[in-house]
Amino acid sequence: MSRTLSIAIAGAGIGGLAAATLLARAGHRVTVFDQFEAARAVGSGLMLQETGLAILGALRLRETAEALGSPITRLWGISSDTGRAVLDVRYDALRPGLRGLGIQRSAVFAILSEAALASGAAFVPATRITSADAIAGTLTDAHGAELGPFDLILDALGVRSPLASSPASELPYGALWATLPWPEHGPFNPEALEQRYHAARQMTGVMPSGRLRAGDTLSLTYFWSIRGDAHDAFRAAPLGQWKDAARTLWPETAMLVDQITDHDQLTFARYRHRTHWPAATGRLIHLGDSWHAASPQLGQGANMALLDAYALARAVEARSQPADIAAMYVRQRAAHVRLFQLMTWAFTPVYQSDSNILPWLRDWLVAPISKLWPAPPILAALVSGGLGAPLKRLGLSAGR
Ligand SMILES: Cc1cc2nc3c(=O)[nH]c(=O)nc-3n(C[C@H](O)[C@H](O)[C@H](O)COP(=O)(O)OP(=O)(O)OC[C@H]3O[C@@H](n4cnc5c(N)ncnc54)[C@H](O)[C@@H]3O)c2cc1C
Repeated sequence: MSRTLSIAIAGAGIGGLAAATLLARAGHRVTVFDQFEAARAVGSGLMLQETGLAILGALRLRETAEALGSPITRLWGISSDTGRAVLDVRYDALRPGLRGLGIQRSAVFAILSEAALASGAAFVPATRITSADAIAGTLTDAHGAELGPFDLILDALGVRSPLASSPASELPYGALWATLPWPEHGPFNPEALEQRYHAARQMTGVMPSGRLRAGDTLSLTYFWSIRGDAHDAFRAAPLGQWKDAARTLWPETAMLVDQITDHDQLTFARYRHRTHWPAATGRLIHLGDSWHAASPQLGQGANMALLDAYALARAVEARSQPADIAAMYVRQRAAHVRLFQLMTWAFTPVYQSDSNILPWLRDWLVAPISKLWPAPPILAALVSGGLGAPLKRLGLSAGR
């Protein structure tokens, strides 16, 4: 590093906290702004892939995450219409020992925020960012106060960042999510993310998601796909209506569905798909969902945010001018971002849409082909995030 930079990070989410840790450890003056009043985590489980785990490894946090999460070796989905397995991705088809990690979002947040604080990054909570001046290097908060100037501003404000372009509308389908205790004598595979589908209009799934803290009981993340415009009707109707549909689609989940006694136990998440170009202007650089938002269909968003954070820190290490830092950052990440944005855009309606043709093709054409070589290792590379060699571009290798 040629000089110490003053860096503002807007957003203490997965990407922002990883970037804060890396940059503060490298000796930069890092200030993190977030709208939350106090550090807190929201949401249920997510899947870390080899890409994200490798970045946690570079941060020396991988072992902590792996001790809390549940290893996932297989993604497995069955069509309730035909009884056929229409999704069967085994990670070890690409490399023995390769796996994902189901983990509670709160656990990832706790690990990263502790590391960011320990690295010396300063936190400014209760600050809602509304705009940035990319030339002056300043931020403005909801009270009109100007923050800065900074040498660099990282926009890690997530999918609804006011500093990046927004799509006109959200994707038609979102999902209801809940974290529940892992049933000791249940029928679920402790190493698989399992799903059931009725065409692409109904989808439900169970993902092992480890424990929040050492000593806690194991958890799972349950999800139910729902159209965004059907959410009000879901909330207005007696819960029993949804429970009947959920039990019909996947009878074994009755033991989970029965634990839900209030609509508020199911968190509704809507998704957006958009990529913001240019990824950097002046002193302002976008990372994570503020650069590239997508549905969680391929389970890549958090991993992409971690890759971005590492690429950014690497660029700051190697270059000193904002334009040069941005150019190196984008060079390291753009191809992988483009590839996975395209793949997620293509795959999402196959599992969440009103189409009749796409799920038919999925069940009768794509599913049989996907079992034939070389499809299994390609699919494993896709879900593990390794397609396009993003780690190699960052000078990292997969594995510990
Ligand atoms: C239901 C669901 C399931 C998912 N499952 C997976 C999965 O299995 N695997 C995976 O890799 N990804 C998954 N994702 C995607 C993943 O959560 C995101 O891609 C990832 O969190 C993006 O990280 P980020 O740092 O860009 O943004 P975030 O983690 O969203 O952080 C943004 C931060 O900015 C703050 N903020 C927002 N606006 C403002 C403002 N105006 N002012 C100040 N602060 C603000 C927020 O409080 C937050 O702390 C899932 C997403 C959802 C919704």
